[in-house]
Amino acid sequence: MKVRFLGALGEVGRAAILVETERARILLDYGVKPGDPEPLFPGHVAAKDLDAVIITHAHLDHSGAAPLFMLDGRTKIYATDMTFKLCDLLLRDFLKLSGYYVPYEVLEVEEFIRRGIRVEYGETIRVKDAEITFLDAGHIPGSMQVLINADKTILYTGDFSTRRTRLLRGTNYYPRDVDAIITESTYALTDHPKREELEKDFVKSVREIIDIGGRVLVPAFAVARAQEIMSVLEAYGIRESISLDGMAVKVLNLFLENKEFIDGYQLLYSAAKHVTKIDDRRKRKRAAEKPGIIISPAGMLKGGPAAFYVGRIYDDPYSAIYLVSFQVPGTPGARLLEEGKLTIQGEDVKVKARVKQFLFSAHVGRKELRSYLKRVKSDAKVFVVHGEPEACNDLANYAKEELGLDARVPDKNVVYEI
Ligand SMILES: [Zn+2]
Ligand SMILES: [Zn+2]
Repeated sequence: MKVRFLGALGEVGRAAILVETERARILLDYGVKPGDPEPLFPGHVAAKDLDAVIITHAHLDHSGAAPLFMLDGRTKIYATDMTFKLCDLLLRDFLKLSGYYVPYEVLEVEEFIRRGIRVEYGETIRVKDAEITFLDAGHIPGSMQVLINADKTILYTGDFSTRRTRLLRGTNYYPRDVDAIITESTYALTDHPKREELEKDFVKSVREIIDIGGRVLVPAFAVARAQEIMSVLEAYGIRESISLDGMAVKVLNLFLENKEFIDGYQLLYSAAKHVTKIDDRRKRKRAAEKPGIIISPAGMLKGGPAAFYVGRIYDDPYSAIYLVSFQVPGTPGARLLEEGKLTIQGEDVKVKARVKQFLFSAHVGRKELRSYLKRVKSDAKVFVVHGEPEACNDLANYAKEELGLDARVPDKNVVYEI
């Protein structure tokens, strides 16, 4: 078996891995790195040379370049039904924002959704001499890990999480008998806080603002994080005027219609009953003015309705902006944390509202990544991708030095023999 890496090398973005068995050529993910304004694409691979394309989950860094294969008309693309449904929202949104730089159009996105082959967790398909099994990755609804078995066995972790959250149970697969593992390393340098403490801390901070009649803006990713925050609030009985806005509303509807992909369905279902869905400007203005909680994308304050709300809330010392994820350097969210400033209508302003960050995460953290690799057999090869260079190197070094594994951060266009 041979493996070639076309992206996600020392970066979080444009995942693309080509696996070749004796007879089959299988592409794992084909994502972009969303840029400002121009997105970056992975290395080229011709559609006619591929027997299967597998998309692990809907995030654009795994799916954003996949519609390119629709120009060919024959390529077989596999993912879960939830992934295709989320892709329908995310890829259209991507085209709206970056369409000028993207070499495909809505027509290809529609083809991609229509022709995509739906697979399920636990299912095994056969592609020539390869058996491909799909496993629940516990990262976002519909996300999967991929196990390829031919003369050797390779596991691609995709983005994954071993922890139970309010929406997902976390992956339950551990790589015991694989000859090679390709692992993400997004948080190889960071230990996540304990989930229960994080939730309690968040809920307490929300209550403090609600009790004084303030507004809490929670900028959150539209896929999974916004709905998870709803579920956390519901679990602790917070039901005071909660508004949900932007694409998060469409994603919530998808989750409610596809029960089989949501582990904490009942909780989300009751949370949804206590949420006002914002779908026009009048409702948005009202939500921005009255005491309560607003959950809205974008999660790092880069556009979306959250950018509107922040303009209404930043100068109110009785209100708060609670960021619920890591903030990528250079984003408005990161600047807010570092300098306590934002740019509102072209002007730099000092933020008077309370600002706090709660590190909810959908990825494995440092400790879990390390114990995951401890399960791999001693002669397995380890390839570390999908992390900043320091994170990739740290995990690869740990696997090499502490665990004695044949581990590396792969190079672009080198062919690795398994
Ligand atoms: Zn992801
Ligand atoms: Zn990713």
